[in-house]
Amino acid sequence: MQSFYVRLLGTGSPKPNRERSGPAQVIMVDETPVLVDCGEGTTRQLLNSEINPEDIKHVLFTHLHSDHVFGYAHFLLGGWSLGRKELTIVGPKGLKEFHEKILDIFKEDIDYRVNTLGISGNGLLDVNIIEIPDDGGEIEIPEINTEISSAPVVHNVTTFGFRFQKGDQAIVISGDTCPVDSLVTLAKGADILIQDAAIATSVFNAESTDANLKKIKDILVKEHCSPKQAGEIAEEAGVKSVVLTHLLPNTNETEAFQEASKAFNGKVIVGRDLDDITI
Ligand SMILES: [Zn+2]
Ligand SMILES: [Zn+2]
Repeated sequence: MQSFYVRLLGTGSPKPNRERSGPAQVIMVDETPVLVDCGEGTTRQLLNSEINPEDIKHVLFTHLHSDHVFGYAHFLLGGWSLGRKELTIVGPKGLKEFHEKILDIFKEDIDYRVNTLGISGNGLLDVNIIEIPDDGGEIEIPEINTEISSAPVVHNVTTFGFRFQKGDQAIVISGDTCPVDSLVTLAKGADILIQDAAIATSVFNAESTDANLKKIKDILVKEHCSPKQAGEIAEEAGVKSVVLTHLLPNTNETEAFQEASKAFNGKVIVGRDLDDITI
């Protein structure tokens, strides 16, 4: 197995979907798994892909929308109960408060496990929290053998794209975003771009007379990409392959693939849960 690749854990969206778990992926760097986002079902998807949840010692959050963090409480307490002894989490401002609220919600449960069962609080009560400045920049995590940089993208809350650079190889995660220059710059020449492509034509049919659907689409175009736009970003950034993700239920995969392929000369992959994307 290559030493630098992506494992898709969840390629879904806020809408529950039997085929797709909530947004999450692992960047594997020399056997060190780095989790990016932690949507619903992430811990179970780690188990399904034979990554021990307790082996994840670094989690990066693109943003704190519910669909990207629903799985964090389970991961935080579950990974600790399996024996995790250290954890660093990285994300936008508000991450510390979000983390502390979860500890607070489960305070009685945690007190019981620590004080009555005698489990060490390490890996749960001493989590290292890094909040990224709003303008992004380098993220220093010396124990991961890759450079990690962040850039703000355009969503409806503070959101970052991430670039993992290992030698001359690069993997980029777009985060939830509409098309924006900062993402094109971040993804320049990358091998793999994992790209928000939520606004599929098959879901948001242009001919639909549903006024509510139209209204929602008018809002979403300012904060997500279509498969076509995913292809355009990939083409402009000159990446080798683009992986369409954040897919809503009833997305027509063939159509999404074709729309992205028309705009992009490289390789288009429609993301599926538990797929490995190699360089
Ligand atoms: Zn979002
Ligand atoms: Zn999302």
